Amino acid sequence: MNNIFPTKYIKITNNYSSSHKGIDFGWSSSYGGSNVSVFSINDGVVYKTEIQKKGGYCMYIKHDNGMVSLYAHLKKNSYKFKVGDRVNRGSVIANMGGTGVVTGNHVHLSLYKNTNLNDSNKVNPLPYLYANDSNIINSSTKAKYKINYESNQQSSNNNTDNSLKVGDKVQIIGNYASSSTSTKAVNKKLIGATRYILKIYQGRNYPYQVGNTTGVSGYFKANSLKKLS
Ligand SMILES: [Zn+2]
Repeated sequence: MNNIFPTKYIKITNNYSSSHKGIDFGWSSSYGGSNVSVFSINDGVVYKTEIQKKGGYCMYIKHDNGMVSLYAHLKKNSYKFKVGDRVNRGSVIANMGGTGVVTGNHVHLSLYKNTNLNDSNKVNPLPYLYANDSNIINSSTKAKYKINYESNQQSSNNNTDNSLKVGDKVQIIGNYASSSTSTKAVNKKLIGATRYILKIYQGRNYPYQVGNTTGVSGYFKANSLKKLS
């Protein structure tokens, strides 16, 4: 799945360059203010957290494709996960802050090719990020930068997809979990089977409880279900 942006409101205040190997994202008082939620750009595992002199409160996430994302200047003590925790694309990992050396609150995002966390291993994150319908893009950012977009269908993430509702008939097309709060989808045996959505747990890791008249089969993300009716 494509990476998303680390903030809902997208305003690039400092671009990637040889002397600034990351992108800075600012904030707006109209869209949540200066302590807004910071999202993991994709599924992964919290690889490291540290307090850096310049970067302040930092979190590193190792993604399933091997790349590592770094979020810096996070608000003090706002981490929502600890090292080793599994996170999803769009999980809120912390709040924006102004820790370290900054002129104002922002999120600094760097992207490493792999777990070699040297400066020389950083790439420009922008071509790797995709905006979707949930984002609000600052007008001057839109004019100045080439922002990738993904379609609505691709942008269905771990959060509840409004197109699926209780009672819908669905075909199981991907792995699933044993509970809505599981951290991993390990079950596969029902792939291909037809079931119904019994209940939706808003905001849970695996929000869709799926089953039939004889009981619950498992808990799913939207991307493991295909709507049949
Ligand atoms: Zn920066």
